[in-house]
Amino acid sequence: MARNPKYDILFEPVTFGPKTMRNRFWQSSHCTGYGSDRPGTQARFRGMKAEGGWAVVCTEFCSIHPESDEYPWHSARLWDDGDVVNLRYLCDEVHRHRSLAGVQLWYNGMHSPCLESREVARGPSGLPSNVFPERCLYDAAADEDDIRAIIHMYVLAAKRAEQAGFDLVEVSGADSTLPMQFLERRYNRRSDRYGGSLANRARFYVEVMAALKQAVGDRLAVTTRFETDTINGECRIQHFDEGLHFVELMHSEGVCDLWAVKIGDYEEWGEDAGSSRFRKTNWMRPFVSHVKSIVGASVPVVSNGRFTSPDDMVTALRSGQCDVIGAARPSIADPFLPTKIAEGRVEDIRECIGCNICVSRMQQQALLSCTQNPTSGEEYRRGWHPEHFEPAADPCSVLVVGAGPAGMECAMVLGKRGYTVHLRDCAPELGGHWRDVARYPRCAEYGRLISYRQIQLEKLRNVEMHLGVPAMTADDVLQYGADKVVIATGAHWATDGLGAEVHRPVAGADAECAEVLTPEQIMSGKRVVGEKVVVLDGDGYFTGVAMAELLADQGKAVTLVTNMNMVAEFSKYTMEMPNNKRMLHEKGIRFLTNHWAHSFVPGRLRLFYLYRDSAGLYEVEPGRWGRRTSDELVDLECDALVLVTARVPNGALYADLKARRAEWQRHEVQAVYRIGDCHAPRQALNAIFDGHRLAREFESAHPQHPLPFIRERQLWGHSTIPQRGDLRPAVEPV
Ligand code: ADP
Ligand code: SF4
Repeated sequence: MARNPKYDILFEPVTFGPKTMRNRFWQSSHCTGYGSDRPGTQARFRGMKAEGGWAVVCTEFCSIHPESDEYPWHSARLWDDGDVVNLRYLCDEVHRHRSLAGVQLWYNGMHSPCLESREVARGPSGLPSNVFPERCLYDAAADEDDIRAIIHMYVLAAKRAEQAGFDLVEVSGADSTLPMQFLERRYNRRSDRYGGSLANRARFYVEVMAALKQAVGDRLAVTTRFETDTINGECRIQHFDEGLHFVELMHSEGVCDLWAVKIGDYEEWGEDAGSSRFRKTNWMRPFVSHVKSIVGASVPVVSNGRFTSPDDMVTALRSGQCDVIGAARPSIADPFLPTKIAEGRVEDIRECIGCNICVSRMQQQALLSCTQNPTSGEEYRRGWHPEHFEPAADPCSVLVVGAGPAGMECAMVLGKRGYTVHLRDCAPELGGHWRDVARYPRCAEYGRLISYRQIQLEKLRNVEMHLGVPAMTADDVLQYGADKVVIATGAHWATDGLGAEVHRPVAGADAECAEVLTPEQIMSGKRVVGEKVVVLDGDGYFTGVAMAELLADQGKAVTLVTNMNMVAEFSKYTMEMPNNKRMLHEKGIRFLTNHWAHSFVPGRLRLFYLYRDSAGLYEVEPGRWGRRTSDELVDLECDALVLVTARVPNGALYADLKARRAEWQRHEVQAVYRIGDCHAPRQALNAIFDGHRLAREFESAHPQHPLPFIRERQLWGHSTIPQRGDLRPAVEPV
């Protein structure tokens, strides 16, 4: 289909400094965990976005020197020629698809853990890090020689970036990095020409930009990513105060070819990577839209806002908010988003659901994966392309039982590969447990996980969907007439309080009773009796806090009890922790951590503190534990108990079929596989990955077991760069 002319503006070229991007789609710098150490994964992941139409594709934060060492997190690095070799592959892949490659130059001052390099970062005032207060991190206060040395580090890194083939260098002036540490009054306690007035505190940032302009500015664009408001109050950066004044100041120096603007520093990263539970599309607009009027027509502005709709993008451009649409998550969820708009296939866009699982992977020091796009990060190591599917050489008929995330994904990929697929579910609609999830408070955007797959499945003529059918038994499956069977029957919340803490049910907790409920029962309308409700959360992600909020909104007095150290502990990885806590506080939801349930009777939940036994160890005696044990219990008034404790696989159908393996041949069933939560209940991204992988590897010798993937690591006996004893270029001023 032809592109809708109202979207033409998105495909106009934009010039910044010595470079011109072919359209207005900019993949903002975003973390992956791939860094410079996984060059294949990094290059093919970024290259896929260029292929999908993103005109500029940036790296993640890229450390410029071992003094700014982020380990155990994984950034890109431009420390030495080895990094140049590895990042050159990224640039080549991006250039192969006519896009520009950008690298974000990053020096983190006091917040550099330096657990690999063991060096000491320099900073404005020699203060402890507030980002990692528990790690005993301090910067070394920089004198003017140090400042010149750091600026020289930026220049050396930019020259390496040029060697690698990058088209632009973006100075990170965000996320509490060194330029911001000089700029913010709370960090900068200097009394020399780098401290005091805004102009003085801005000097370091401006000098870095000026030095880069001078060193590479005629060949590479020199840009910055700046937060106009750190969203955390006094002595930080506030929009109508120092945020905009700094933009004026830097702009007047003429050293910045393009501004990428955002909000929220490292502590409030969740305001930059705003999750859909707390922030809707273009939530940053009030904080960033004034930058354009300061920098004028000749200097482009990039604005982000989890844009997935071309209409929202056009509105942002036409309103004068920005010239370029920046995106991290929408480009992860759908690397082909620009192409789909260009080709008039807007309904095919795999819209980001704003779950922040991608960020959570990096925050767990792991590798980026995406809930919506199971191919992200698998382009190189498994050879997966998000839009291309190898046609099946000999397509057979496949019955998929269960249309939750795993079943939908598997049926869709099998369908795209040419198999004849019947997707059957006893529920009247697609989505499985995710239909409930999308109705939790704040989770409406999660519904995109279902709607994207529904649209794709409906387009496939070789896929039939049979919904609202009787639950299938092993007899039904064997007699169905399919060559192969995939079981995707999901999981359910434990009805007896079984959870990870003690791996046993909670005495008296039985969801058959009126006073005990599971999330499914609440979502299907079971009445919540009484006023005082306890949510027992052993899951630690969004379901516990969602149930608490839902019931608080109904006027219940809610207490959330968890065995973990924090409420919704996983949300520290998704950057939702601060706003989860604010929401609980605002809604009067009390919480108790490090406790678990001992027993329940209507009206009273009895808890125990996890660390109630003695700290000291005692001589081991037969029949005695090595600690002095305590029977101390805590009682909570509790009219209704909500069990968010653990999920239990719906594994019976697969087990029945397996037990009747001898009958498969008689019924001409060649194979039975299981995927998703009925195999092991995990987060939705894993269920989707499971379904996707099985469908991709359907003809392998043992499809239930994944094929090996490429592991990127040093193979022993091969040389390294640098070698021990190599010289490092001097950064100190002579
Ligand atoms: P996953 O996350 O693994 O995809 P879900 O729990 O979301 O799993 O979805 C499982 C789906 O399987 C549900 O929609 C449920 O109705 C369906 N289902 C479970 N058992 C059967 C069965 N025996 N016959 C048909 N559908 C089933
Ligand atoms: Fe969007 Fe979630 Fe994918 Fe991240 S993981 S890109 S937030 S859908």
